[in-house]
Amino acid sequence: MKPSLTDTLCTRCGLCCDGSLFADVELASGGEASALEVMGLEIEDDDDDGGGLLVQPCGALKGTRCSIYPHRPDCCRTFKCRLLQEAERGMVEVERAKEKIAQALRRIERVKELVVQLGTGAERLPLKEHCLEALALSEAAAAGPAVKRKRAELQAAMTSVERLLQAAFLGG
Ligand code: SF4
Ligand code: SF4
Repeated sequence: MKPSLTDTLCTRCGLCCDGSLFADVELASGGEASALEVMGLEIEDDDDDGGGLLVQPCGALKGTRCSIYPHRPDCCRTFKCRLLQEAERGMVEVERAKEKIAQALRRIERVKELVVQLGTGAERLPLKEHCLEALALSEAAAAGPAVKRKRAELQAAMTSVERLLQAAFLGG
C-alpha cells in the first residue's frame, strides 16, 4: 500500500509540534486537557476560558514523530499546513515538499546553533521566544563586536526562517 502524504512528509518534519510554527496548541475541552496532563504533557490555561493550551515544543514529540498519535488532541488531528495541503492537491510535487521541509529544518538548526552560541541554555521554548530571549540577554550583557556580529547573524537567520515558514507552511 502506498504511504499517505502524512506518513511521507510529516514524519520527516514535526514543525507544527516542535515550537517552530506555533507556541501552543488550542485544546477543545477540559477533558482533552486532563487526558493529556495524565500523559505527562504540559498544559496552560488559556485566556478565553477554553480547554487550555498544549505547550510547544510538545513533550509528546519524539524526534519528528508524535508518540501519542492515537490519542492526540482534535486540533492536531485536523491541522494540515499549507505545504501538506498543496502536496495533497498535487500543487507541489512530493520531492519538492520534502526539499522545503529539509530546507526549513536546516535553517532552524542554524538559528538554534546561534542561540546556544549567544549563551542561552538549551531550554524547551518555542523557536521565536528562544531567539528573542537570546537577543535580549546578549544585549543586556553589553556585548563586544563579536557578540554584536553573532546577534546580527541570529536576527537575519530568524527573519529568513520566519519568511520560509510563513510562505511555505502557514500561507499568506
Ligand atoms: S508542518 Fe506540515 S508537513 Fe510538517 S508535520 Fe506539520 S502538517 Fe506535517
Ligand atoms: S500531541 Fe502529537 S501531534 Fe499534537 S502537538 Fe504533540 S506531538 Fe504534535
